[in-house]
Amino acid sequence: MLATTVVQTCIRYASESTRCRFCTIEESLRAGATTQVKRPERLAEVAEAAWRLDGVTQMVMTTGTSNGADRGAKHLSRCVAAVRGAVPLLPVQVQIEPPEQLDWIDRLRAAGAAAIGIHVEALDERVRARWTPGKATVSLERYEQAWRRAVAVFGPNRVSTYLLVGLGEDPDELIAGARRLIAMGVYPFVVPYRPLDGSLASRDGIPAPSPELLEHVTRRVAGALNAAGMRGSDQTAGCAACGACSALPQAGG
Ligand code: SF4
Repeated sequence: MLATTVVQTCIRYASESTRCRFCTIEESLRAGATTQVKRPERLAEVAEAAWRLDGVTQMVMTTGTSNGADRGAKHLSRCVAAVRGAVPLLPVQVQIEPPEQLDWIDRLRAAGAAAIGIHVEALDERVRARWTPGKATVSLERYEQAWRRAVAVFGPNRVSTYLLVGLGEDPDELIAGARRLIAMGVYPFVVPYRPLDGSLASRDGIPAPSPELLEHVTRRVAGALNAAGMRGSDQTAGCAACGACSALPQAGG
């Protein structure tokens, strides 16, 4: 797996009142460990070398959210096209917020992306307002429109969203929400909230969820995925295809 953040800044990150509380996107930039914008031709060079020398079989490209109506999709689509031009057989997943014009989703597919993640993180509005206050200004209805468009363009089980366990959402409501996503053809990638150094939540001392809670949610969502015949590995590229951050693959999802 080769993973990159093509733009290392995010409009949500600038203020603590809009930043996602688990996020650290700009910390590596501040530490001088990465560049703000990765150029398509450099990514193509790296992807080709990773394919040829390291046997990498999939790539993930994520981005911080930009100010533009495309929310970062324009640069992402250029990056995908460059990588696919250099390594046509390397499947690439893109990750983005719902763009204002949904046809950016079509353009990402046309650029060669195999799968797409549109990550809501939580389905409970109170949890969204507390944990992802900037992203919560994008309504759940808008997320649903974006997911449905993405399923129409990429196909069922080529679209995913993160659902974080440990943000205080009622577990049974979270499971019910995951089932609704599955019915829509969207893979709910259930992962524990992890307190990363540099994040607001870590600063506030918020602990990771208990193993019991994580197991309760993961087992039930894995069961629903299984019943629907949706396996993360079928996405060919992306977080669900890799699965290392989640216990879903071990639970049968
Ligand atoms: S929208 Fe994404 S990149 Fe921006 S603060 Fe939230 S998690 Fe971080």
